[in-house]
Amino acid sequence: TQKHKVTVVGSGNWGSAIAKIIAENTQAHPSTFQRDVQMWVFEEEVALPKDSKHYNAQSSLSQGPQKLTTLINEFHENIKYLPGVPLPTNVIANSSLENAVQDSTILIFNLPHQFIGKICDSIKGKIVPFARGISCIKGVDVSDKGIQLFSESIGLKLGIYCGALSGANIANEVAQEKFSETTVAYDPPRMDSQHPTPHGSPKLSPIDTITQSSSPGPKQQVKLQALPNEFPPLSHENVKKLFHRPYFHVRMVSDVAGVSLGGALKNVVALAAGWVDGLGWGDNAKAAVMRVGILEEVKFGQTFFENKVEAATFTQESCGVADMITSCSGGRNFRCARMSVKENLPIGEVEERELNGQKLQGTSTAYDVNAFLKMQDMEDEFPLFTAVYQILEGKHRPADIPQLIDASVA
Ligand code: NAD
Ligand code: 13P
Repeated sequence: TQKHKVTVVGSGNWGSAIAKIIAENTQAHPSTFQRDVQMWVFEEEVALPKDSKHYNAQSSLSQGPQKLTTLINEFHENIKYLPGVPLPTNVIANSSLENAVQDSTILIFNLPHQFIGKICDSIKGKIVPFARGISCIKGVDVSDKGIQLFSESIGLKLGIYCGALSGANIANEVAQEKFSETTVAYDPPRMDSQHPTPHGSPKLSPIDTITQSSSPGPKQQVKLQALPNEFPPLSHENVKKLFHRPYFHVRMVSDVAGVSLGGALKNVVALAAGWVDGLGWGDNAKAAVMRVGILEEVKFGQTFFENKVEAATFTQESCGVADMITSCSGGRNFRCARMSVKENLPIGEVEERELNGQKLQGTSTAYDVNAFLKMQDMEDEFPLFTAVYQILEGKHRPADIPQLIDASVA
């Protein structure tokens, strides 16, 4: 029997934290997964900060800025995007995308959403045809054709099935092994779970066609290859094994659209929460924004994703209400929005100054969501999402939020 090889595509703050979790789990489940986990790194030169505990150990390397991959593999720490957190030695940083995904049967996509299109283009046709994906990306893929979940656009581009992971998961806290929960949506067509019994052959053909199932607009089809029988099946049980840790509890669900939308849309709401907090309005104002935000999330999902999403995914799972709370308490979108009000600076400037290369997702998602709502002529139906966009555009001020959401979702 074969074992699954896992690659994490991305190595930012969350990408590195997820690679750590997966590498712990490939060690814990040696009959299901290969031990080493490839982590694709967008290569850059980084100087070790003087206060890094590795600073004096760098004599083995030449002085001055080093390749980030070299530093990660030498010191087992992503000193730029996840400093201070030891990575398991079986996380292997690799700057060659093609090489990192080669022979991998499980691909974990974890990078800021603006980069995923190019990444998929460059690995198309170069991956194992029966690979399976999980998208940890929080965002939506909007074009003039409409809106797609990233799990779906990745799946369609690469010809693979792709699920989604999302939850109340501030990466630094997860990486420090502070307790949190997450939601994994994984719902491939039946053929993956139909492993042949010792006495029978699989009932479905090894190559089947799935229809892109959730996003609005014309349905696209993708030919999907069944996982060969030599591999452990990617059942909910085995997918859970990849992510579940004593400090990181996984709930498996089938609502891929709900999980993806919860993660994407709360980033827009977190900006509004940061702004009202920056105005010194306190917790009640923030709670009001979060309440309206959850209602708009549910309405957005049920209006545009064919009633396939379940309201309970937003109101009961970590990817919904819990992510809304954590993101509006300590997330980067919240913190940068708050500072932008306090210091009267554009949020992009705060992002540049505060995040050391990490990327805000809420600002671009607010633009993406607004472009889609305009296409649907439905901006008025989502007053909070629209208010965030208009404030970013300078058409309103954060102090206008109460008035802008007054006629909000009943
Ligand atoms: P990040 O904000 O740390 O972004 C930086 C990453 O982007 C680095 O790895 C950098 O190398 C890479 N990058 C920069 N330019 C690039 C380019 N041109 N092409 C490709 N990559 C490039 O990223 P992150 O925090 O790992 O976020 C990844 C996803 O996870 C996002 O969708 C985010 O919303 C989500 N997420 C983040 C957190 C968190 O707390 N950080 C938690 C949950 C989910
Ligand atoms: P930020 O990107 O705003 O930090 O949110 C992190 C997150 O998604 C927590 O679940």
